[in-house]
Amino acid sequence: MNDRMGTRAPRITHPERVVDAASGITKGELAAYYASVAPLMLPHLKGRPVALVRAPEGVGGELFFQKHAQHSDIAGIRLLDPALDPGHDPLLQIDTAEALVGAAQYNTIELHTWNATSRAIGKPDRMSFDLDPGEGVAWQQMQEAALLVRVLLDELGLPSFLKTSGGKGLHVVVPLRRQFGWDEVRGFSRAIVEHLARTVPERFVAKSGPRNRVGKIFADYLRNGFGATTVSAWSARARPGLGVSVPLEWEELPDLDSAAHWTVAHIAGRLAVGNTPWDAMEGSRTGLGAAMAVLGFLPS
Ligand code: ATP
Ligand code: MN
Repeated sequence: MNDRMGTRAPRITHPERVVDAASGITKGELAAYYASVAPLMLPHLKGRPVALVRAPEGVGGELFFQKHAQHSDIAGIRLLDPALDPGHDPLLQIDTAEALVGAAQYNTIELHTWNATSRAIGKPDRMSFDLDPGEGVAWQQMQEAALLVRVLLDELGLPSFLKTSGGKGLHVVVPLRRQFGWDEVRGFSRAIVEHLARTVPERFVAKSGPRNRVGKIFADYLRNGFGATTVSAWSARARPGLGVSVPLEWEELPDLDSAAHWTVAHIAGRLAVGNTPWDAMEGSRTGLGAAMAVLGFLPS
């Protein structure tokens, strides 16, 4: 790790400790994964508030979801201006490999980010749709559902990008021009999901709760509110096997066998592809006005 990170590589204590019994991955190996993936992951973390999922006892032990801190021992992590999230301790931000690996030293397994940057925290720069399979939903239905979401977004003139969650589902991301506030973006994402559930009711449900979801796919728009977070691309998941959230081309979706297709133990070959499936994202930022008009949505 020192080669890659110079003299600022944080020391990893207890590197031999097994973090995930299913894969046998140790704390040292997970830290090494984050060091190696840092060049790919930092563009997704930089400039955004981050939430950490820490697992001091590893996968299967108690998880600590941390969005704020008065003080952090993680070397290089930034504590943001408390005014960004009034009434709370400072939000956290990770802009460097040092801080990313430092987070792993402090037992972080997952890193989740906001849909806005810290510099413009009032205006989201992306909209996320979290597709969750209800009980009894086959993977093939997830694949079809994601394609239906893409088609609807296309019809609304909104380019969309896909990633595995590393867990059970898929995440669809729409890059936005910073134009509307949280309420408008969340309200519109809700309108999109409700439209889907009305149009393809046998496949989609817009209401949360496991009983509403049996045999259906829950398209969650709640990731689009102020303070909501979604797991970052390239984050490992604190679940058996340590799946990884990986950006992919829409054309790759039919070949995937699950949302945890890539794991920390089996991701080396994917690193060369890296973020290229999302290369067009920055250039695709779109305003929502035209799409709102198509759906008859009136921003308040
Ligand atoms: P899957 O594909 O398996 O659904 P996912 O990443 O879409 O994976 P979850 O891991 O269930 O979904 O995470 C749900 C979201 O809720 C996360 O993105 C995270 O930001 C948020 N979250 C998770 N744990 C907590 C918590 N303890 N407190 C507040 N928010 C949380
Ligand atoms: Mn999900």
